[in-house]
Amino acid sequence: MPLAAIAYETERPQANTPHFAPKQPVASLSKVTRRYGGTVALDGLSLALHPGEVVALLGPNGAGKSTAVKLLLGLIAPTSGTARVFGSDPREATTRTRVGAMLQVARITEAIRVREHIDLFSSYYPNPLPLAEVLRVAQLEGIEDRQFGQLSGGQKQRVLFALALCGNPDLIFLDEPTVGMDIEARRALWQHIRSLSAQGKTILLTTHYLEEADALASRIIVINKGRVISEGTPAEIKRSSGGRTIRCKTTLSKEFLQALPGVTNVGIRDGIANVTSPEAESVLREMLRSDSTLSGLEVASPALEDAFLALTKN
Ligand code: ADP
Ligand code: MG
Repeated sequence: MPLAAIAYETERPQANTPHFAPKQPVASLSKVTRRYGGTVALDGLSLALHPGEVVALLGPNGAGKSTAVKLLLGLIAPTSGTARVFGSDPREATTRTRVGAMLQVARITEAIRVREHIDLFSSYYPNPLPLAEVLRVAQLEGIEDRQFGQLSGGQKQRVLFALALCGNPDLIFLDEPTVGMDIEARRALWQHIRSLSAQGKTILLTTHYLEEADALASRIIVINKGRVISEGTPAEIKRSSGGRTIRCKTTLSKEFLQALPGVTNVGIRDGIANVTSPEAESVLREMLRSDSTLSGLEVASPALEDAFLALTKN
């Protein structure tokens, strides 16, 4: 497991409504299909965001993540199915003042200064944050008078983040917010996202990094080819991706190993077996009982990225 995932394990943001299950989602897609010409970007996809949650929409490139975000922002309409934000159609102007977004392909005028961009965006909202606070939170102090076009890639990303939060919205969409960032900038942005969550904001974040979803989200929705393929807490997602792999030298046959309860995959090569199971301990106990010559034992957790590949393959 990468260090980042371990370091943040204890700080995982929780939904801010632990005592009751909220009835009304803040935002939802119900059986939404969205086509672009002959391409089906979303295929009967349903999802719901509850107050105070940080949900990660996780999937490979082309899975439909940005399409889902654009539908919830009312930038595009579903081909069929329903999008709802605060109980209304997201294309209605009233919902927009409660929503902030950081989009992948944001059209930002290059010749305008950072502070002017923030002032302009803030003017769309009834209760925007003070400029100084936005600059501080997005770490733009000292570069507020530079033109957007003169900034580095990471600085531009931070401006986009500032534009997402400057209106003090209740619901924030972050579409691949850390793409192209180095590890330090990514960690810093993770920390900012956590602090928004601690203020009770509802956040939908898209990413193709399982590590990022694991570090930030209270719930992960894995999508591929426009459909939900898995949904749960980060721990559940990692478990459902196959569990751990037992590797050892054994005389046990492939057929025997495959028949053990809880085994999801078996490979044997040159007398070395690789046995994958979400219940590695009980499988291992059974193997040791059945083969007293078993040797060279290793038990490994899948790398997060391998777990993700296992989930999204086919
Ligand atoms: P992701 O954000 O997960 O990478 P997208 O939602 O951007 O996925 O895209 C989903 C699918 O829809 C892809 O096959 C993509 O090529 C297609 N697509 C997205 N936007 C358009 C568009 N404007 N015109 C045509 N096809 C599109
Ligand atoms: Mg995208």
